[in-house]
Order: sequence, then structure tokens, then C-alpha cells
Amino acid sequence: MSPSPQDAPSPASTPNTASGDVEPREAEHREAETAQAPAAAGDEVRPGTGFGVDETALEPTAQDLRVLTRMLGRPVRDVVEIPARCVCGNPLVAATAPRLSGGSPFPTVFYLAHPGATQATSRLEAAGVMAQMTERLGRDERLAAAYRAAHEDYLARRARIGRLAGTGEVPEIEGISAGGMPVRVKCLHALLGHTLAVGTGINPLGDETLEAVEPSWSPHRCACDPAWRDQD
Ligand SMILES: [Zn+2]
Repeated sequence: MSPSPQDAPSPASTPNTASGDVEPREAEHREAETAQAPAAAGDEVRPGTGFGVDETALEPTAQDLRVLTRMLGRPVRDVVEIPARCVCGNPLVAATAPRLSGGSPFPTVFYLAHPGATQATSRLEAAGVMAQMTERLGRDERLAAAYRAAHEDYLARRARIGRLAGTGEVPEIEGISAGGMPVRVKCLHALLGHTLAVGTGINPLGDETLEAVEPSWSPHRCACDPAWRDQD
């Protein structure tokens, strides 16, 4: 898992037993028709390319914050955008300020929130997928280069979220992205959060994580609890 400050939201998932049917994919991966190109440092980052959103659906609503609070089991704070949504409209990912209002640096800008997604991802992690991916990064130069570009994309987009949030520079996490990028795989939740927030074609291992979880959870199939939206 990525470093998670004490007062930060953390995935509600608990590691499940390995499902045993998880096959790591080879380096090649399908690119969706909407595949994006990674942003590099200094690039103008175009928002609104994640799953289930366009530029008009990024702003968090009161209902979004209520749903996120119930998904995570604690009040959410410092949510700047909703960069990915379920087909029902509920948030899948919370774009979180790189410095929390309590002052802690928070590197994991694309925070995977949906319990269905976090649980499916935890099962993959328990099945040993991260070690296999890290091993492949060591011998597949094309994959390694794409993963380094994903790291740069992550940093560029986090800087944009930081500018929106007005948090300014966060030197404690400068050059540090999430999930083990750019050379290792340490948290599939972070990688899947990135892919959902920016679309496929940018983070090759986030894209693989999405493909691998899709039999049990998909951004295209609503698995939300209707009670998450209830007003008290
Ligand atoms: Zn839903």
C-alpha cells in the first residue's frame, strides 16, 4: 500500500484470500478507443478523461461526499475532484489534495474509493500479482518505459490538483508518485485509481489491473449500495 497519513482516508478493504484464477497479462494490453497519452512535466493537463466523467462532472457534490464517506466508513476531506464515476454516477475515485488540511502530505492523489473495486484489487494483490509485475518491469524495457511515463503523468496531474486545491508545492513528496511507480509495483489500488481517473492507455499496469478485476468488478456495472445516497 502507499504511505497513508494517519488522518487520511484509507481503503475500506481487507485482504481476501487468493482467488487462484488470476493470470498476469503479458506486456501488451488493449487500448480502448478513448486511450489517452500520458502527460509530461510541464504539460497542460487536460482533466475529465476518466471513466464515467466529462469536464462537467468533476466537481464534487454534497451527495458525492456523502457517498464517499459511506464507502470509506469515515468522513472524507480535501476532495478536489471526482475524476471517475460509476455508471450510476457515484464516485469511484476521489482526487485528493496533495497536502491534507491537517498539514500531512498525501501522495495518492487518485484515491480508489469504491469498496467493490478495492476488494477485487486486494484479491489480486493477495494472489501475488504485484511481484510478477515488478519482475516483468525488470526485463521488459517497453513496459518499463511506459510505466515511467505513467509516473510522470501521475506527478503532472497531482500538481494540477494541488494547484486547484491551493496547497502549493509539497516538497516532502516531490518526485514521489504512488503504487511503487516508477520502477516497482507496491499498490494495485493506486494504479487502478490512476487508470480509472485518466482513462486507459496511460498506466499499463493500472490498465492490466482493471482488466484483471473486471470479472468481479467493473466501472461499467453498478455495484453500489443504494443506502450510500440516503440523506439522514
Ligand atoms: Zn453505481
